[in-house]
Amino acid sequence: MPTVWEKMQWRGIPLGATSAWGATQLQLGEYGAGERGVLITAGVHGDEGPWGAWAIHKLLRGLDASAVRGRIRVAPLANPLAMQADRRNAPVDQLDLNRVFPGDAGGSYTERVAHILATAGLRDMQYVIDLHGGGSWCVNAFVFEMAGGRELARAFPAPFILQAPERAESLTGYARWLGKTVTAVEMGGRSAQEAHWAERIALGLRRALQKIGIIAAEEAAAAIEAPQPVSRSAVLRPAQGGIFLPAVAAEHIGTVVEGGRLLGQMLQPATYTALEEFRAPYPRTALLLLRPFMAQLEAGAMTYVVAQPA
Ligand SMILES: [Zn+2]
Repeated sequence: MPTVWEKMQWRGIPLGATSAWGATQLQLGEYGAGERGVLITAGVHGDEGPWGAWAIHKLLRGLDASAVRGRIRVAPLANPLAMQADRRNAPVDQLDLNRVFPGDAGGSYTERVAHILATAGLRDMQYVIDLHGGGSWCVNAFVFEMAGGRELARAFPAPFILQAPERAESLTGYARWLGKTVTAVEMGGRSAQEAHWAERIALGLRRALQKIGIIAAEEAAAAIEAPQPVSRSAVLRPAQGGIFLPAVAAEHIGTVVEGGRLLGQMLQPATYTALEEFRAPYPRTALLLLRPFMAQLEAGAMTYVVAQPA
């Protein structure tokens, strides 16, 4: 039996926005027929690594083409120049792709990418799953619930589920505004567990497609523990720049720790004098995002995302 991966039709839409003329394309893959369709994207932020695209690949490779009851469209490399630079935003115009929807066909590189995703990407699709995730500098472990998208979000084996802010200028926010059902997944990142997290994202995709009727119900997918709801999320950032030294490891992502626990600290970069400590702020603190490695950080850099279990 052929898999969806073998049957997928790929097309490259030229971006034409750089001086390396005609070299960069936005690649969209498509398979299936029928009314119902889902767009799955990965790499909207270029420093969030290859794990989302890898999870899409794992999904497509593991899916029997005859089990598909609708249309699957994928954009695994949604922001090629940002991926190449391993930066959140492409160096060519420094715009955040997830803040410029619906984009502009005649705009700069990032605005053109947004325009293609908003038109050729979203066209005739009722569902959108946007894979973000940890990256070269952090690991994270949660899924965003957006209005009308609870069941889609709860299909993912994420440790935590969090209400998302509605942002019309993001891919999922714009898709919501068009009336689509959406979720954004924040799982994975560089660590010794990267393959494990990619498998979990792939399992979540499979369960999500089953839930919305794009995969036949008889195609078994492993059961999961439902994500734990959390609220009052907060970002912990250093007050001044220096060297960051972690006190919790990548294995702690997705866990709940006791209040006051030391998470990491900032050191003066020459003397290594302690500048400040990061501690778990809530009596029970859910770890949604952390940095597992030493790094130089500027003041205000995102260092932890924490929340309170409901
Ligand atoms: Zn992101």
